[in-house]
Amino acid sequence: MRRIYFDHSATTPVHPLVAEEVHRYLVGDNFGNPSSQHYYGQLAWRALDQARERMADSIGAMAEEIVFTSGGTEASNMAIHGAALTNRNRGTHIITSAVEHHATLHSVQALAENGYKITVLPVDQYGMVRIEDLATAITDETILISIMHANNEVGTIMPIAEMGRLIKERGDILFHIDAVQSFGKIPVQVDELGVDMLSVSGHKIYGPKGVGALYVRKGTNWRPTLFYGGAQERLRRAGTENLPGIAGLGLAAELAAKNLAVDNRRQMILRDRLIKEIPEKFSQVRLIGHPVKRLPNHVSFIFELIEGESMLLGLDMKGIAASTGSACAAGSAAPSHMLQAMGISGELARGSLRISFGRDNTSEEVDYLLEVLEPIVARLRGE
Ligand code: PLP
Repeated sequence: MRRIYFDHSATTPVHPLVAEEVHRYLVGDNFGNPSSQHYYGQLAWRALDQARERMADSIGAMAEEIVFTSGGTEASNMAIHGAALTNRNRGTHIITSAVEHHATLHSVQALAENGYKITVLPVDQYGMVRIEDLATAITDETILISIMHANNEVGTIMPIAEMGRLIKERGDILFHIDAVQSFGKIPVQVDELGVDMLSVSGHKIYGPKGVGALYVRKGTNWRPTLFYGGAQERLRRAGTENLPGIAGLGLAAELAAKNLAVDNRRQMILRDRLIKEIPEKFSQVRLIGHPVKRLPNHVSFIFELIEGESMLLGLDMKGIAASTGSACAAGSAAPSHMLQAMGISGELARGSLRISFGRDNTSEEVDYLLEVLEPIVARLRGE
């Protein structure tokens, strides 16, 4: 059967050059432990260094500011817990938003159980934090603000640079962003954004799964508090490095930054076609997320009177992989916390459909989607 993949916000296929790079560090002499002094160790160390340079260059950072992790989840946990514990003597107030990924929300919840005060900022109808709300929430006790750059369910891009300026004006507060969805889709440069810490993940940028990075600005009052062990990653992440994964991430990051403009142009055309044509073709459909400030590859809709899950199954049977915003936690059909925070009722949130494009999708694939979606929607609405 013909297969079309429209779920790049969930994960991406590995770039062939990245796959080769990963393989290179699984075979031959490239199996060394970067902590070893001998020839094998030196080969591994050089690969680690190169990956760190590549990762750093792609976000405008210095190599020493990069800590490799097991993915976006670990990077955000590490940033948030480390910042909270290191700065506890200065205050216990942390600010985040209602539309964060659970990697952030559950991290701050764990801190709340340990005496930290958490402010979860509301969002507007597009899933955007209002700058005024952020400004009002900051107190003398605030030590950390963690906000996502772009939302994984609705694609909305937060005004991070503006937030960064405000936060720095208000004092010595650490600013962490979850750039897992934005990196590789829009420019992510740490100085322009004014952030102290930033999380990225390999598998969202045509890299391997189970590897990511945390950027920590030089001089930041932060120390790692999750892992205890060896001196790897300049004492910031103990444990023998996942060298094949890290080498893959380094190359994937370099390619993502290099291909950004071309990829964006192509994917925006596909995205904008759906933004125009879906509401023309279907009744009782609404675009969700910000109409303009959204990821170039991302579009999501609510189809009223429909279960998103059924729509997905229908599409899957036609060979199309997409996703729904109403992610079910462990099989329970709980509506998405992100959509609910945007004021979308649980009932409506169940009818969401997320299409996230990648660099290989074509206009002809969009034609096919529109063609097969029509009878699926009609059937589910009993028309
Ligand atoms: N943050 C966001 C916005 C995400 O979309 C994801 C992945 O879905 C993560 C964090 C977690 O990243 P990882 O899968 O690498 O742990």
